[in-house]
Amino acid sequence: MFKPATSPVENASPALSLSDVCHRYGAVHALRRFNLDVAPGEVVCLLGPSGCGKTTALRIAAGLEGVTGGEVNIAGHLVASSTNFVPPEDRGVGLVFQDYALFPHLPIADNVAFGLVGASAAEKSIRVAEVLEQVGLDWAAGRYPHELSGGQQQRVALARALAPRPAVILLDEPFSGLDARLRDQVRDQTLHALQTSGAATLMVTHDAEEAMYLSDRVVVMREGYAVQTGRPDELYDKPANAFVAGFFGEVNRLLGVVENGVVFCALGEIAAPGFMNGSKVEIIVRPEAIGLRETAENKAGPGYAVVEAARMLGRSSLVHTFAKSADGTDVHLHVRCPGRFLPDENTVLAIELDSSQAFVFPVEDAK
Ligand code: ATP
Repeated sequence: MFKPATSPVENASPALSLSDVCHRYGAVHALRRFNLDVAPGEVVCLLGPSGCGKTTALRIAAGLEGVTGGEVNIAGHLVASSTNFVPPEDRGVGLVFQDYALFPHLPIADNVAFGLVGASAAEKSIRVAEVLEQVGLDWAAGRYPHELSGGQQQRVALARALAPRPAVILLDEPFSGLDARLRDQVRDQTLHALQTSGAATLMVTHDAEEAMYLSDRVVVMREGYAVQTGRPDELYDKPANAFVAGFFGEVNRLLGVVENGVVFCALGEIAAPGFMNGSKVEIIVRPEAIGLRETAENKAGPGYAVVEAARMLGRSSLVHTFAKSADGTDVHLHVRCPGRFLPDENTVLAIELDSSQAFVFPVEDAK
């Protein structure tokens, strides 16, 4: 029979829990004491550069890989530890892979029914119709995979994973094979279907915008560790270090030395509370955190930017500038201004910094 979905309201305990999970491939430490809880109905994305351990974490949750330390619990049951291992088919998880892995010789309805082990033909047919409708493909039940577009095949794979009402859905870069325009549409449909299902969702991506779009929480990973876990806005507004700040879009990086709680750099004076005098710091500033204002003063120095080029990007303009540090060196800065703002080359503009979006970190955190 179908396994019941776990509702976020009925059960606040995690549907999926990885505790101190370690995994080694020979000498390679793919995961190091990795911790993560995913609640029923929650969507969590693992985000990080290639090789940081995202896929390994997902495969461990799925039961496609064992653990060398720590444990995995699904819906309150221990499914993996150094002494226990429950195989994938007995874990109550749904999997969606990058390549969709549909059976080409089976019609869509049979592909979706594949995981409904133990259900009667009538139950299967009702459930298949339900999930195909959920993903907007009720019309495709009798078609074959090759008759559908990439985006439609991805939604069939999702419907197949959702059909047995798993407690946990695991998705490995499910949109990476789709072109940009289709990706936006399929993401949206996928998110609605996942939210309707009530399953705990863990998804792998290396696209920060995708993670922010889809997730209730994001885990930023590096070298097998979870560097920071939080809501997308928390990670964007309060990054734990330069690595996390740099992962959410383009940033300007400047160096400086703290004196009396402030650091002077090409942008002017920036508060650096909590740093000792003489601390070397890295200042991370997003292009949209820098404002440019016309000024009668024609001086190049800290707090002023000289325009090198300006480009219209549609909803915003990107202005390439340089500004002088306190020691006289030029620092190249990208500034993103809303709407159309195309100042002439060599114009001197005053910098207005949104200091809530200027992050100061010790230099040793930089990578
Ligand atoms: P990507 O974004 O490129 O898919 P990832 O973050 O998913 O990367 P993993 O695939 O989990 O990273 O790999 C983590 C580390 O483990 C990497 O150093 C990788 O080279 C290594 N690794 C992964 N699979 C194996 C394997 N089967 N045998 C040996 N090493 C492996």
